[in-house]
Amino acid sequence: AARARIGDLLDIGVRFDRADGALDLGREGAHSRNRVVHAGGDATGAEIQRALTEYARGHELIELYERHYLVDLLVREKICYGALVYDEKRQRLRVFWAGAVVLATGGASRIFRHNTNPEVATGDGMAAAYRAGADLMDMEFVQFHPTVFRQPGGDPFLISERLRGEGAILLNHREERFMPRYHERGELAPRDVVTRAILAEMRQSGAPCVYIDARHIPAERLRNRFPKITGTLAGHGLDITRDLIPVTPAAHYFMGGVRTDLCGRTSIEGLYACGEVACTGVHGANRLASNSLLEGLVFAGRVVASTRGRLERRRPPRFCCDKLLPPAGCDAAALRRALQDTMDGGAGPVRTPAGLAGVLAFCGDWEWLRRHAAATPAEMEVRNMLEVGHLVAEAAMSRTESRGAHYRVDFPSPQVRWRKHIIFRC
Ligand SMILES: Cc1cc2nc3c(=O)[nH]c(=O)nc-3n(C[C@H](O)[C@H](O)[C@H](O)COP(=O)(O)OP(=O)(O)OC[C@H]3O[C@@H](n4cnc5c(N)ncnc54)[C@H](O)[C@@H]3O)c2cc1C
Repeated sequence: AARARIGDLLDIGVRFDRADGALDLGREGAHSRNRVVHAGGDATGAEIQRALTEYARGHELIELYERHYLVDLLVREKICYGALVYDEKRQRLRVFWAGAVVLATGGASRIFRHNTNPEVATGDGMAAAYRAGADLMDMEFVQFHPTVFRQPGGDPFLISERLRGEGAILLNHREERFMPRYHERGELAPRDVVTRAILAEMRQSGAPCVYIDARHIPAERLRNRFPKITGTLAGHGLDITRDLIPVTPAAHYFMGGVRTDLCGRTSIEGLYACGEVACTGVHGANRLASNSLLEGLVFAGRVVASTRGRLERRRPPRFCCDKLLPPAGCDAAALRRALQDTMDGGAGPVRTPAGLAGVLAFCGDWEWLRRHAAATPAEMEVRNMLEVGHLVAEAAMSRTESRGAHYRVDFPSPQVRWRKHIIFRC
């Protein structure tokens, strides 16, 4: 299926990088061979998005609604009839009835202050599906990317693992290489291992970061293969061919989400999910680098196949949701920051019962907002973040073991009795 979907992307004009005419394959963390197609050196996602957006805009059967925000799913007795959506431009709610609703709202790493994600990754689809009664699974498994460049006040910027795949190494504040002490794969160990090693080095030294060293890689190769990284760092006054690059871990990817089967069907009839909002199970407890875009593409294709011939609209029952409630009267921006700091402190890559209890207490204090039907868009978003944060902490507290991206200081190894999923249903 993956090969066919890559073929689809080539057909609609995605310009993947090539070497001697064939697709050029890169290698990332925990890969045993080169297997990653890429575009524009290190701008694969942007190139795929460009081509798909152009294709969708030009397709006569696709209508695009910009700045329309999913508020809630219209579900009655385990059947999804459509979605309640807020039109931000006209500032009013709209109802979309549909034979099939596909959630593709992405992940939720914005619930952490230190994250790599776009602003929209606030878990809206997960929270809406949960409120509608869909199953959510594996919420404790949040992947932290080990090497994120962060300048005070600036946006975090991910330094791709492909750079380490090209031979870049990690140094601590004494400029000593440390990864071989932690794992036989060194800098290309699984992401959770590299993340914890970096945090251990930072804790031992009190230093605020570790460093990526790519100075031994020919400058020409760095500039050709990593134009985005070299360009962005240059904008911050750093030359990757000569300077050490300061990095720290940050929240990056949700393995958990709306539980689906292998066709993208959720536990609600007529509701499908694909991409990071979904939990198909294929990433296990620790996604392998580069598998997310591929999973999104493969499962999008499967969703289309499983909705084919099933798009007749059902007669909807009556829903009472025709206006926004008065604002809840909270400072949404301040609440968002407080939640993010609480998540960083209590539910990050290294978890303790006390830290998780702190997150649960924080989210518990805002239970009334989580139950509030609808308010301003900013409140809707923070309400969703609280819901997702609460589920992450509850699952992480329940899972008394360490597995994949979930690491508990008090239970540092995997347990046979925990070879199972935690599933939430509202
Ligand atoms: C910096 C970075 C680098 C990455 N590199 C790689 C990589 O090299 N390879 C790889 O496989 N993966 C990579 N990933 C992960 C991968 O990019 C994401 O998992 C993937 O893009 C998720 O795709 P998606 O379509 O599910 O969600 P997104 O691409 O996040 O799209 C979600 C869409 O839903 C919209 N949306 C959200 N909420 C609402 C709402 N309430 N109402 C309406 N619309 C809404 C958003 O505006 C957005 O348009 C990377 C991620 C980051 C952050």
